[in-house]
Amino acid sequence: MIVIENVAVATVDASDSYHADGHVVVGDDGRIAAVGAGPAAEGEGRRVDGAGCLVTPGLINTHHHLYQWATRGLAVDETLFGWLKTLYPIWGRLDAEVVGAAAGAGLGWLALSGCTTSMDHHYVFPRDGGDVLEAEIEAARRIGLRFHPTRGSMDLGQKDGGLPPDNIVESTDEALSATEKAIDRWHDPSPGAMLQIAVAPCSPFSVTERLMSEAAELARRKGVRLHTHLAETDDEEDFCRERFGCTPTEYAERLGWLGDDVWLAHGVHLDDSAITKLGATGTGVAHCPSSNARLGAGAARVRELLDHQVPVGLGVDGSASQEASHLGEELRQALYTARTRGGPGALNAREALRLGTMGGARCLGRQDDLGSIEAGKLADLVLWRLDGLGHAGIDDRLAALVFGPAAPVELALVGGRPVVERGELVHADAVTLAREAVRAHRRLMERAT
Ligand SMILES: [Zn+2]
Repeated sequence: MIVIENVAVATVDASDSYHADGHVVVGDDGRIAAVGAGPAAEGEGRRVDGAGCLVTPGLINTHHHLYQWATRGLAVDETLFGWLKTLYPIWGRLDAEVVGAAAGAGLGWLALSGCTTSMDHHYVFPRDGGDVLEAEIEAARRIGLRFHPTRGSMDLGQKDGGLPPDNIVESTDEALSATEKAIDRWHDPSPGAMLQIAVAPCSPFSVTERLMSEAAELARRKGVRLHTHLAETDDEEDFCRERFGCTPTEYAERLGWLGDDVWLAHGVHLDDSAITKLGATGTGVAHCPSSNARLGAGAARVRELLDHQVPVGLGVDGSASQEASHLGEELRQALYTARTRGGPGALNAREALRLGTMGGARCLGRQDDLGSIEAGKLADLVLWRLDGLGHAGIDDRLAALVFGPAAPVELALVGGRPVVERGELVHADAVTLAREAVRAHRRLMERAT
């Protein structure tokens, strides 16, 4: 049992309950036993003094490509399509060792940024690269994060009018059967699951219509969720209009890709009718404001999405299109992006925190167990330290967290188990992870030349 007390608590429950001086009690079953104002009842277990801190639900990362940690800092001034064309040939040489090291670094960094659950969208499976999905699952176990890797895929190479080179795409049948195998091997449907799989063909310009629609059938047959990139850039919109004669959202609708079991990465270029469709179908959006800014893709219409009841989560996106990859910082970036578009009323600190927690839980289908601090939910919690120089003098701790600089993580729990303590990973060493990431990067770059 762990008792966090003498602490500010932002619960993100349905009424956004906030306790300026409260407590959270974590039971031995890894779930939240109690939350409220004032001190906790006396009892056994570890007591954590939260003076100077704010406890929130653990942040949930709804879009990422962990392997990209091995190719950061390249093509830094390119558009999405230019950046992809530069990087595809390098990614074609990925293997399990590179992916394992990149995922270890990426997930360790996410944990230090206040993330307790991350998805990953992996869609490059070189023929002789070994089991790259297993490599990243092992990395997540090593760090201790709750993990939702998706089995991605690409089957539309250049010779068929797609963007990726032909040697890094799979055949449609290979992609579908490997995806089904990944679900059978790894997916845990239980409420406390540490590992769930989703089905994730990559994007309209790298996947055939057949793979998109059969992937949706597969996911629904297996009871798992669906994810893909959609409406990220103007180039993608042009591609869809030319090839399919419609917008990306109309294309998704045609293929059975709107629904409350689907969440889409980006959703930047959505017209009013697309936003209405997403809201009406309960289709989620992984909002990745820093990546969208880095690639100059545009700014998602988050206020309008929320007003139409679209589930919106936050994502850092791949580490090669958003080198910071810090989920805590995305709270502020999301707020700034919304306000740049819509003025100061477009998003507030409470709403930004909701995107990063409950919004993410809804995207991943985990809203019954994650995303808020309520008795009975899984104890995925972050205790942010807000009494250092960076936040000195900001009395409102939620404002300090969202408007201030990235806050140090005093304690992060996943299912009640510590994964970060006093700004350090509990189960891995950050220096070792960095060294392994450098080695993986060099190995990949040497092979690529
Ligand atoms: Zn992405």
